[in-house]
Amino acid sequence: MGKNRIGIYPGTFDPITNGHIDIITRAMKFLDEVIVGVAENAGKDPMFSLEERVQMVEEEIAALNGGGNHIRVIPFSNLLMDFAIQNQASVILRGLRAVSDFEYEFQMAGMNARIHPAIETVFLMASERHQFISSRLVKEVGRLGGDISHFVSPRVLAHMQVHFENGDPKKLIQTFEEN
Ligand code: ADP
Repeated sequence: MGKNRIGIYPGTFDPITNGHIDIITRAMKFLDEVIVGVAENAGKDPMFSLEERVQMVEEEIAALNGGGNHIRVIPFSNLLMDFAIQNQASVILRGLRAVSDFEYEFQMAGMNARIHPAIETVFLMASERHQFISSRLVKEVGRLGGDISHFVSPRVLAHMQVHFENGDPKKLIQTFEEN
C-alpha cells in the first residue's frame, strides 16, 4: 500500500474521441493516476498539430466529472517505454476494439514487455456504443460533412470545424487531384 499506481495511456489522439474518453474513465477505476501520453507521431501525418491534440485532450479532461483530478496530459516523442519509466508508470493502457486491433497491439505489447518486463500492458474495452469509434473515420466522415456529433465532444467538433473552414490541407489536395 501507499504506492501510487500510475498508468500511461499513449496514443495519437488525432482527435480525441468518445472512445478514448471511455477508456480513460475506466482506467481511473483501478489506477491512482492516468497520464495521457500524446505521441508526436509525425510518421502518421496527423491532421492536428501536437499542440492542438494536447489542447483538445486537456479540454476533455477538464470537462470530466471532478475536473479530471489525477489525470495529466503529457506530449512525448521518445520511446514509449522510456517515457513510462520517466513518469514512474507501472502500467501501459491500450484500448481494444475489434479483432482488427489485436494483431498490432499483440506485437507491440510483446515488444514492450521485452524492453521493460516490469511494466504491464493492460487492455480495456470501451462500452458497446463507443467501440466502433475511430479517429480515422471521424476525420473521414467529418471532412465530407457527415454528422460526427455522437463520436466526439462538442469541443472537439468545434476544433474540427475550424480546421475544415481554414482549409484542411488534405481536402485541398483531394480537390486538386479531382480537377
Ligand atoms: P495510436 O496511433 O497509438 O493507435 P490512437 O489515438 O488511434 O493512437 O489510439 C490510442 C489507443 O486508444 C489505442 O490503444 C486504440 O486501440 C484505443 N482506442 C481508440 N479508439 C477506441 C475505441 N473506440 N474504443 C476502444 N479503444 C480505442
